[in-house]
Amino acid sequence: MGATTGTTTGATAGDGDRRPGRRALLVGGAAAAVGTAVLAREELSRLWWRLPGVDKPRVAGAVDFRGARWVAASAANYRRADRPADYRVDRVVVHVTQGGYASAVKVFQDPAHGAAAHYIVRKDGRITQLIRELDVAFHAGNRSYNERSVGIEHEGFVEDAASFTDAMYAASARLTAAICDRYGIPVDREHIIGHVEVPGTDHTDPGRFWDWERYLRLVRAERAKGPHG
Ligand SMILES: [Zn+2]
Repeated sequence: MGATTGTTTGATAGDGDRRPGRRALLVGGAAAAVGTAVLAREELSRLWWRLPGVDKPRVAGAVDFRGARWVAASAANYRRADRPADYRVDRVVVHVTQGGYASAVKVFQDPAHGAAAHYIVRKDGRITQLIRELDVAFHAGNRSYNERSVGIEHEGFVEDAASFTDAMYAASARLTAAICDRYGIPVDREHIIGHVEVPGTDHTDPGRFWDWERYLRLVRAERAKGPHG
């Protein structure tokens, strides 16, 4: 557990692992089998983008959710990836920061923290994106769940019911609806989960005051309005 957030550190969770992903290994294996000498120059340049540590070009400051403010997390707190091409995204993980918005942003920018979520939703409903959805954020304390999920932090404390404002629920539901649209994630409690439900976690967020029934109702209502994001 981080000192000021509900997100597990990568160091203790072991999900900051930098080994080449399965896709990189597959590409490497295929190249070895064919023999690099016979690969056309075009083929090499195409494969170049798939080598470990090299991925799609990105636009600085781009966000995945319209209206989100971009603040980059430290590169130590996530792993660059190419989701959903390399990892299927089928979960949204709901967190609570156990602190204020500003302190959460600050620790996610700290390379020593070892953890960060894709988004933070503030009490007033403002959404900040810190990590692109195509990347694997270290938020769940479980490597496989990190690879398959988008993590959303909510400003506040698990034991403070007043943390969870109407504006926060509404904004977060719009965000989750857009994520579910993008990846075809069903809006149910199997796929929209709390950090507490991640296998192996010792975290309790979002806690007993988070109103799941209300949240899923809002997410479904947003989805019914049509495509998002
Ligand atoms: Zn958490």
